[in-house]
Amino acid sequence: PVVTRFAPSPTGFLHIGGGRTALFNWLFARGRGGKFLLRIEDTDRARSSAEATEAIYAGLRWLGLDWDGEPVSQASRADRHAAVAQAMLDKGSAYKCFSTQEEIEAFREQARAEGRSTLFRSPWRDADPATHPDQPYAVRVKAPLEGETLIADRVQGDVTIRNDQLDDMICLRSDGTPTYMLAVVVDDHDMGVSHVIRGDDHLNNTARQMLVYRAMGWDLPTFAHIPLIHGEDGKKLSKRHGALGVEEYAAMGYPVAAMRNYLARLGWSHGDDEVFTTAQATEWFDLGGIGKSPARLDFKKLGHISGQHMAMLEDDEILQGVRDYRAAAGEPPLDDDAMADLARALPLTKGSAKTFPELLEKSAFSMIHRPIVPEPKAAKALDTVSLGILAELTPHLQTASWERDTLEAVATRIAEAHGVGLGKVAGPLRASLAGRTATPSVFDMMVVLGRDETLARLDEAIQ
Ligand code: GLU
Repeated sequence: PVVTRFAPSPTGFLHIGGGRTALFNWLFARGRGGKFLLRIEDTDRARSSAEATEAIYAGLRWLGLDWDGEPVSQASRADRHAAVAQAMLDKGSAYKCFSTQEEIEAFREQARAEGRSTLFRSPWRDADPATHPDQPYAVRVKAPLEGETLIADRVQGDVTIRNDQLDDMICLRSDGTPTYMLAVVVDDHDMGVSHVIRGDDHLNNTARQMLVYRAMGWDLPTFAHIPLIHGEDGKKLSKRHGALGVEEYAAMGYPVAAMRNYLARLGWSHGDDEVFTTAQATEWFDLGGIGKSPARLDFKKLGHISGQHMAMLEDDEILQGVRDYRAAAGEPPLDDDAMADLARALPLTKGSAKTFPELLEKSAFSMIHRPIVPEPKAAKALDTVSLGILAELTPHLQTASWERDTLEAVATRIAEAHGVGLGKVAGPLRASLAGRTATPSVFDMMVVLGRDETLARLDEAIQ
């Protein structure tokens, strides 16, 4: 059975790279009837916090990445980790190292001075237990000194690491606490993880973690190390690039389905498919489609994908998306009337907005109330001549059948009678109905507003 996991360290918000790693693991499991587990790697007590754990849950929930069972706290499993360290001692694949921090420093200093490798070689590796002092000790794994370790990675291919580059890593510190390197292996084994899909910054750790699998006689999971995400400038993502937290995308008003689509495309591809649903991604996702080179954050592409998803969403999904967006952006919720106005405008707006704030902007004509105060740019369209044309138009609107094409025909006739283009009628109409220049088509707006509201707004403008 396929079991994947997402194993964040709770030291901050869920960043975009973490969200992408979680998504890949989720897609892989969900597409194969497998399980997607969550493990909070909170062994570093000083850097971990409950708030960060909550922020990670919130980010995953926003992305809609549900996990199976309860999240596992790595720290809570310290006894089990220590027991495995003891088992490795018993098997002779680990040893007690009594070297102090000072001795290790001194070793490194001398190695540096002599131009040798600074990998610590403990004098206790082969020491006779009879010579062991009665002192605190660390448990170190016995790494092979010669040969190579092969990682058969599903993304990177076969990666070989020279064993003389592996140190006897510490599994249990002298205060009895397990190291991350031990804990991650024990937890993945105990949780039955079949596929470890994680950032390629962990590739070197993998060779060292394999020592523990070997020592314990455990089957290796399948490894897939995915390239990190880079910024638009091709450099490794950093604060400078901005928008690193998943919740920032919620606050920018991208629909979550679009975000999942975009994150899936950050490093994974399926032929030429650019815009797809989560159901399709779940069906299509495979490790073979993950690229070997770093993907770049690209807001233009995100906007494109997002716009396509807006058009694909059902109306009630959009309305819920707007509510969620307002909450994420720290804006007060819209009241029922405003939501009804927004809903009424959806047929005109949802095909052309890339984000929820853009949708709100395009829906403004429907959501505003009289008196309408035109923006300066729109006010320019309301000169005396234009107002005269509008005054002439109004009686016709009182009787015209209220359909888009009829309304356009009425306006066209007035324009022709004045020897001007349709824009000379549509422009002032737009300005008086919406108070702004960027709006959906003016005749569509009139249909949505209805005859009474349209005439009321026109009367107000003309006076
Ligand atoms: N806690 C590690 C991290 O956040 C994850 C390591 C792993 O996935 O094995 O980088």
